[in-house]
Amino acid sequence: MDHDCLFCRIVAGEIPATIVHETETTLAFRDIDPKAAVHVLVIPKEHYADVVALAGDPAASADLLAAASSVAEGEGLTGDGFRVLFNTGRFAGQEVFHVHAHVLGGEPLGPMLALR
Ligand code: AMP
Repeated sequence: MDHDCLFCRIVAGEIPATIVHETETTLAFRDIDPKAAVHVLVIPKEHYADVVALAGDPAASADLLAAASSVAEGEGLTGDGFRVLFNTGRFAGQEVFHVHAHVLGGEPLGPMLALR
């Protein structure tokens, strides 16, 4: 655990979160500032800074993807569709350097990127 990492502290129970799904290796909780009707963050409990670091651990990567899929099912998103994204680094505006999949849905999400 990285004690300076916000999401490690959520995993440790030091910071409250609205948890919607949990496995031995993953945790999913509602985004504090939702960008869609449903906005859940899915993280590995172990600390990886970003999706590039996570990709070095195939088992952890598979667990995260499976958890994101379970969240989408649990939130009732699979019928109309949903979006999963990983902001990575400066150009993407990554704010929290503990890898997290954003699971977004519950309403039409508009174009993939606002810039184009
Ligand atoms: P990113 O820009 O991809 O790093 O996304 C970080 C996300 O974490 C943002 O959508 C924030 O709203 C969200 N966030 C920040 N602090 C918390 C928190 N304490 N609980 C839940 N979500 C948070």
